[in-house]
Amino acid sequence: MSRTPIPPFAPPPPAPLLPRPERNPHEQRSVTVSRAGLPANALLELDLDVVPQRLHQQSDYNASWNMRTLIMMARAKMLKLESRPPEMIARGEEETDAAFDLRNEEHWASYFRKTVVSMLEFGHKNQTTFDERIGDERTRSFRSAAASNDLLDKLLGGDVEVSSLLDDLYRSHARRRTLIVSRACGGCPAHRREGSVDLNYAEPFAHGIDAIDPVDTAVFRERFPHLNVAAPILIPLAEPLETGIIVQILEDLVATFGVREVSIPDRLRSEAALQKLHTRASDGIVLLQSLEEEAQRVSAYKLARATVVTSGNVPEAMLLLDRPLHVLLVPSSTPDPFHPGRRIVETGANTLTVDQFKLGARS
Ligand SMILES: [Zn+2]
Repeated sequence: MSRTPIPPFAPPPPAPLLPRPERNPHEQRSVTVSRAGLPANALLELDLDVVPQRLHQQSDYNASWNMRTLIMMARAKMLKLESRPPEMIARGEEETDAAFDLRNEEHWASYFRKTVVSMLEFGHKNQTTFDERIGDERTRSFRSAAASNDLLDKLLGGDVEVSSLLDDLYRSHARRRTLIVSRACGGCPAHRREGSVDLNYAEPFAHGIDAIDPVDTAVFRERFPHLNVAAPILIPLAEPLETGIIVQILEDLVATFGVREVSIPDRLRSEAALQKLHTRASDGIVLLQSLEEEAQRVSAYKLARATVVTSGNVPEAMLLLDRPLHVLLVPSSTPDPFHPGRRIVETGANTLTVDQFKLGARS
């Protein structure tokens, strides 16, 4: 089947350069003007809702077609998919919760309808160039599919030990993508034929998380100079607890103080406002997990963190976490785990009242 490739976005957008080079000081963009009149390495913002000339109406299908075309061009190294940090919108003084949430949702919807790319191949509108690049990529993906097919044949043939096939499939020594496979199996046809089992499974060594950006706690230290961010900071909550207050504090911690990991009791999980905490973060990411989950597996990312304990003791491990900033919200009657006779909020100077916190967060 032959098919004329449709240039994905015709005519090409008139290079709206993103006016924020200061956001990315590490990336020096040299401005050399190419034949197409675009500065090389310039970022282009594309509207995924663009409709080709032969069609009349925008649809979700059209938008995903556009995105797929871009992904295909990226795989063929004609362009690079980039990203642009979202602009956070501030809440108006008179604005109600509902009005702000609506405006915020619309803001995010329009953010996700745009995508940012930098062009690597300026001849992409020339059909021969386009066909050549896509052809190369097609050959590459054909080879990769053929290799997977071989593996599947071997699996179905039943002659080769299954875990060795999975090892072949997943092991990778790509730079910064190292994946070591730990093999274990005791039930595949090869093993059954031999009558042997190999159930020894050693958890593989985890690679991959490196080049971690340092967490900036300057704003917190500046607003609360009397506190020590190297140790957990306690905010005692008046009892009975009010979920609304907990939510407000968490929102400020995320929006103003760079908290990116929040741990709450399971029962607070369904709070709608907590599900949307990430929209308050400048980078749009917050890890939200429950204390119950963490009892099974302690989180180890060195992120600024907030922990909410609503009843019982503070797990000792929570007080020993090594974090750039760790704020603990606890009912004021919570006992000190190390000296159950007294309350945890009486144990040190690293304590902040809710009012002090609010004042510092909004100043
Ligand atoms: Zn096996």
